[in-house]
Formats: sequence, structure tokens, C-alpha cells
Amino acid sequence: MKRYASATEALKANGSPSVSFEFFPPKSDAMEERLWDAVTRLEPYGPAFVSVTYGAGGSTRERTHRTVRRIASETRLNAAAHLTCVGATKAELDAVIDEYAAVGVKHIVALRGDSPDGAGAPYASHPGGYESTPELVAAIRRRGDFDVSVGCYPECHPDSPDLGHDIDVLKAKADAGATRAITQFFFDPDVFFRFRDRAVAAGITIPIIPGLMLQSNFEGLKRMSGLCKASIPAELHDLYDGLENDAEARDLVTANVAAKLARKLAQGGVEHFHFYTLNRAGLAISTCRLLGVKAAAIAA
Ligand code: FAD
Repeated sequence: MKRYASATEALKANGSPSVSFEFFPPKSDAMEERLWDAVTRLEPYGPAFVSVTYGAGGSTRERTHRTVRRIASETRLNAAAHLTCVGATKAELDAVIDEYAAVGVKHIVALRGDSPDGAGAPYASHPGGYESTPELVAAIRRRGDFDVSVGCYPECHPDSPDLGHDIDVLKAKADAGATRAITQFFFDPDVFFRFRDRAVAAGITIPIIPGLMLQSNFEGLKRMSGLCKASIPAELHDLYDGLENDAEARDLVTANVAAKLARKLAQGGVEHFHFYTLNRAGLAISTCRLLGVKAAAIAA
């Protein structure tokens, strides 16, 4: 992977980076409005794709489906649906995959998911369900001409004994037909580079896209990181310290932290960034602008 002397040189050599945005399906009318505000304002930034998460335990199955379908039919965005193995038989998941194919959704983010008792509780596959993510990936590829993304964990998945095991799992997902991997969020670029180097050394050739978190509620970020074991550097604690009652300043810090991380990643040859937007357009837009990604007019 090419490395550059500076982020500026990298961004000049490669042009503005490619981006993608993750949304979650809304639970209320107010949240629905916030999601559509985000979708509408982010569409001109020309993301390679946008994805919609699937609630823990399959709890948002209908809402995920409805949201992805609406994005696919009302925008020009390439919409991807997240799908987990949790709480469903193979036949039920096959039916969901077929419904996506029928409405023209050709990209699925395939995941194991977490125990219905919550992330961290022991995971057991559903009786009659897909046993593992590679099995789900293979099923999706068998059922249609799908692009299949999968998750990966530069700081090691909490259920995994070590990073080597995680790399083996990622290799199995790639061998089953995954077309790209998107990472769990992280804040140290070297964590990503080390993981990418190990993946390449293990013969993994699919692109590994860094997932960058745009969570400006620092308490929320600490909760998330506790669940998924993504570490938060001391520098971040310091940056947010004292901003508990200043949401505006926290937003500015968040966009700058994400852009600084992305620039370091760009210097190491990364040309695509996936943003966990939490359905907030402003933060994603500020971060894109700091990276030189501009909006273009959408042709009628
Ligand atoms: P895998 O990579 O398949 O496995 C993770 C680890 O668990 C591996 O170390 C593996 O060895 C171990 N493992 C696998 N199968 C078993 C088993 N049967 N028993 C014990 N251990 C096992 N979650 C959601 O609910 N909805 C979402 O929309 C969602 N989107 C995500 C998007 C991204 C980009 C990422 C990175 C994660 C997302 N998650 C989502 C979280 C994800 O479901 C959890 O991290 C889950 O614990 C692992 O899913 P995976 O497919 O990455 O697992």
C-alpha cells in the first residue's frame, strides 16, 4: 500500500476521497425527519453507498427494510441493508434477501450480530439459522448478484481470543464471497495500519474500509466503546473535558477529530472512508469538507 509524505500530498495525488455513510432506521416521526434531512443533505456528496443498520436481535427488521426501500426508490443513492444472523431461521433470512433483490437493493452488509441479551452476553446461533457470518455471506451470494460488505475489528472483537483469530474469521468471510470489509470505529491510525498489514499478509485482498465514528456525545461514545472494546485515547478525554453542556463545541471537536484521523489514514493510502453518521448530516458534512469532499449538483 502506497504511503505518502503528507496527507496533503496523498489527497492531491488521489483526488478527493470516496465516502460512504451509515444511518440507523428511525423509531419516531421526529427521528424519521432527522434521517431524511441527513439523507437529502448528504446525497450531493456522492457517497459510494449508504447503509442502514439492523437493530440488535433483528428488532428493526421492518424499519430497516422500509428505510432501505425508500432510499432506493426516492434517491439515486446506492442503498445497502445490514442483515444479521440473530433470531431468524435460514428460510426467514433467505426471504429477506430475496425481498431486497426484488426491490433492486443489491448490497447487503452481512453480520453475525449480538446475543438478544445484549453485546457481551454469550452468543449462540439460532436453531435452524445460519451458524456464522461466512455461511450468511455465502447464502447471500448464492441468492443473487449482491455486493456483500462485512464487519472487521482492528482492536479485536470482544468474543475473539486474539487478533489472529479475527483475521482468520475475516479471511473466511472474504473466501465466502464478501466484497469489502468495514471496520469497527477506532481512533488510532496505527491500529488500522497494523490490522490492514496483517490482513494483507494473511492473503485477504478485499478492500478494508475504515469506519469513522461521528459521535459528539462523549458519554455516549464511552458507553459504545465499552461495549465493543474500541479504545478512546487520552487526548480525546482531554478534548471533550468541560464540554458536557456545550453541544456546539463538541460537534466542532468531533468533526475535527474525525478529519484529522482521516487525513492520517489518507497518508497511509486509504481512499475511502465510511462514516457512522448517527443520522446527523451536519457532522458528516463538516468532516467531508475538511477532507476536501464537496457537494455536487444532482442532475434532475
Ligand atoms: P464475526 O466477524 O463473524 O464474528 C466476530 C467474532 O465472534 C469472531 O471472533 C468469531 O470468532 C466469534 N464468533 C462467531 N460466531 C460465533 C459463535 N457461533 N459462537 C461464539 N463466537 C462466535 N450489529 C447489529 O446488530 N446490527 C447492525 O446493523 C450492525 N452493523 C455493524 C456494522 C459494522 C461495520 C460493524 C463492524 C459491526 C456492526 N454490528 C451490527 C455489530 C456486530 O453485529 C457485532 O460486532 C457482532 O458481535 C459481530 O458481528 P460480525 O459479523 O462482525 O461477527
